[in-house]
Formats: sequence, C-alpha cells, structure tokens
Amino acid sequence: MTAFDDLLAANETYARTFAYSGLTGKAARGLAVVTCMDSRIDPLGLLGLRAGDAKILRNAGARVTDDVLRTLVLAVYLLGVERVLVMPHTDCGMAKVTDPDVHALTQERGVDTRSLEFHTVPDQDAALRHDLTRIRTSPFLPPGMPIAGAIYDVHTGKLMPVEIP
Ligand SMILES: [Zn+2]
Repeated sequence: MTAFDDLLAANETYARTFAYSGLTGKAARGLAVVTCMDSRIDPLGLLGLRAGDAKILRNAGARVTDDVLRTLVLAVYLLGVERVLVMPHTDCGMAKVTDPDVHALTQERGVDTRSLEFHTVPDQDAALRHDLTRIRTSPFLPPGMPIAGAIYDVHTGKLMPVEIP
C-alpha cells in the first residue's frame, strides 16, 4: 500500500480505453494558457478544449515568471503556439498573503524561505497587466502575437476578460 495506489489503479482503467494515441506534441488549437495551480480550475473544460489542443502552464498565482517565459518561447517555436491566454482566478490564495506572510508561516515550522520569491499578488488586476506586458515585450517572442488576459471566477465558472486583443 502506497500513497499513490489510487492513482495507479485509476490509470489502469484510463489506459484500457485510451483515446489519444494519435495526438502529436503540437498544440492543435495553437494556444498556451498560463493559469494558477488552484485545484478548482479545469483549464480544458472551462475553455472548451480537450487533450492535445493547448499547452497549459500552471504555477502559484498564474504569474509570468522567467520559467513561464522560457516555456512560452519553446511552446511558440517548437510546439505550435500562436496565442497566449493568461488566466488568474478569483479567491486566489496568492492574493491573500504577502511574501513576508509566507516567510513568517514557514519560519513557524523552522524553515527559512527568505531566499525564495513567491510572486504573491497584492493587486490582481495590476499583476495581470504587468504579466501581460512581460509577455508582450519579451524580445524572445514574436511581435504582434495575440496575448489575452482574463480572470476566471471559481464560483460561477465564468471568464472575465481584462485585456483581449
Ligand atoms: Zn490561485
């Protein structure tokens, strides 16, 4: 008995009727989505997508970090991505704490995280606009590539556009 038995069992069932063997690694709908790790977000479902359609990049807060930019460059030039949607969400844990809050919490458990940048989000709208600008002005991505920003409402399932080109 391991902590992962449920997952291995579920996968045996999944693989029995596997329907995606014909997919390639290219994003069939030419889309990359940057969203949060929040477990309430079903990025494929809420956007009418299925496996194979899009590159899904997730982290705490849907922030456009250096690693997200690195991944987008690869997604664009190698994997068929031609448009990017940055999609943070309502009720995000990253908007409820500051970096010093997180450092204090970990300190209580005897862990010093002060060398980590958590990219917490004091102002979600401003953070999203900043992150969109970061992608748009990246010297490594094609100029004029459509970049959109929208906030997903985890209580209604609705997407609220912030910037749509
Ligand atoms: Zn979140």
